[in-house]
Parts: sequence; C-alpha cells; structure tokens
Amino acid sequence: MTATHVPVMTAEALEFLAPGRGGVFVDCTVGLGGHAKAILEAGATRLIGIDRDTEALARARVTLAPWAGKVELVHSDYREISSVLEGLRIQHVDGALADLGVSSMQFDEAGRGFSFQRDEPLDMRMDRTSGETAADLIARADERELADTIYAYGEERFSRRIARAIVESRREAPIDTTLRLATIVRRAIPTRGYQRIDPATRTFQALRIWVNAELEGLDSFLATAAKHLRAGARLVVITFHSLEDRIVKHTLRALEKSADAAVKVLTKKPLVAGDDEIARNPRARSAKLRAAERLA
Ligand code: SAH
Repeated sequence: MTATHVPVMTAEALEFLAPGRGGVFVDCTVGLGGHAKAILEAGATRLIGIDRDTEALARARVTLAPWAGKVELVHSDYREISSVLEGLRIQHVDGALADLGVSSMQFDEAGRGFSFQRDEPLDMRMDRTSGETAADLIARADERELADTIYAYGEERFSRRIARAIVESRREAPIDTTLRLATIVRRAIPTRGYQRIDPATRTFQALRIWVNAELEGLDSFLATAAKHLRAGARLVVITFHSLEDRIVKHTLRALEKSADAAVKVLTKKPLVAGDDEIARNPRARSAKLRAAERLA
C-alpha cells in the first residue's frame, strides 16, 4: 500500500486564506498537495507549492494534475521563500500556508528511517538530496551534544542515560538502523509498568528535528513570509508540537508589536482540530493553527 497523508484543519485554513476571491497562494510545505488541492478547488488562480522532499513533490504533481496550468511546484526549503518567489517574478501573494513537520507519507513510507516500526537505514532527512543523515549525526556528535539535543527536542528526561548508551554502543558498531537505535534507547530507559508510548518515541522525534534543523530559522521564515503578503492577505501556520508552536506564537506577536507593525494576529489562542476530525485523523490531535493578516 502506498503511504498517504490526510491534510489537517483544512476548513479552518481555508477560512483564513479565503481563496474564493482568486489570487496567488503559496503553500510553503506542499507535501502531497492535500491543502493545495483544497485551495485550488476553492478558487485560487495560481498556487506555488514548495517542499524540500522530492518524493512529496512527485506525489503533489499527481494530486494537482487537474490544475497543472495554475500550479508551480518548487523543490526548495521554505526558508528560501524570497528567492523562490523572485524566481517566479512574484513579489506579493494573496495568502501563505505553512503546515509544519513531517507528513504521514514520510513517516509511514518504507526506507525513510523516521519510524522504528520497521528496521531500515537511519536516514530521517526530508531532503534526501543533501545534508547529513541521523546515522551520520549519531556517529560524530559528542555525548554532551547528543544529550542536549535529546533533552531539548525530545523533552526526554532520560537524555543523559540515552546519550551515554549511544556512545557506548557506537564503539562496538555503527548505529545505522532504526531498530538498533530503538533497542539502545529502550534498554537505556528504566521501565516502570505500562507505557503509553514507546520509550524510543521522544528520542526519534529529537533526532528528526535535529537532522532537518526544523526549528532553526523558523522565526525569520515567518517574518519573510509576512513581508510577501499583499495588504489584507493572511499567513496560516499549523504546528504539531509545543516547541514549534511556541516559536510561531512569539514570532507573530513580535511582528505585531514591531515598530512598523506590519501584521495583526488573528488567533489570540491557537485553533485546534474538532473532535470529529480527531476521530477521523488521529494526527490532528496535536495540531495548532495560528493566523496573521498583513496590514496596509
Ligand atoms: N499540507 C501537506 C502536508 C505537509 S507535511 C498536505 O496536505 O499534503 C509537511 C511537509 O513539509 C513535508 O512534506 C516536508 O517535507 C515539508 N517541509 C518540512 N520542512 C520544510 C522546509 N524547511 N522547507 C520545505 N519543506 C519542508
């Protein structure tokens, strides 16, 4: 079966983006094209889709084929949004969406190394055309850096024990498969009775965030995206964990308070998915949506 991805909080995103009036929209994390399709169906005249994952872009191309003439898919990092838009001779857009994190496709598709449900090479890169894999990072980081990363990005209180176990194990043999890493982590953590989640979950999340530098430059990306909005246009950001949401919240507030007060925050509190959406799509459980509008 081909792994798929159900877009989260689509109705809420569309409400803010209001593509019914037409206009140019940029989906900064187009993924498999779920949100993009909804934006086009609702009436957008042009859609720019960015993703750093070429496999996701190939899937988006299929999903968005009925609108091929209106769609531009670009393999890039959203932190490069200015040069992407410049390359298309676009200065301002009528709305921008960023649905952060990994897609279910990346997570569930064999061979990507994001999940410990299967044994496979420990890659975890969203962009497999460049950068270091999780196995590379684990091989070269020192114990302190490993511990700090697992603590900060995984909010894992046993980070030091895990880092020590990793360093000891890699002396024997490289840690280059998901199963080997999961086994090392599980053994390093004291187990007490029933556990709701696999004890390797937090460490895998931390490594994924590290490999993909997911939090770096998120603040300046939001500021840049806001700069490319036409007056009255909205920026919608969907996040899936608290570290990300905190950055989005603070950055949007700072933009609102800045001297040239270029944006107004539309969501005092983040919107969350409704119960029926969560029942249909468990991934929606941790979603938080924030939106801001560009002022004149
Ligand atoms: N909204 C999409 C799903 C997005 S999932 C849909 O409906 O199908 C998040 C996507 O963001 C993934 O495909 C991932 O590769 C991409 N991504 C994450 N960080 C990125 C970055 N810095 N630059 C570009 N794309 C990124």
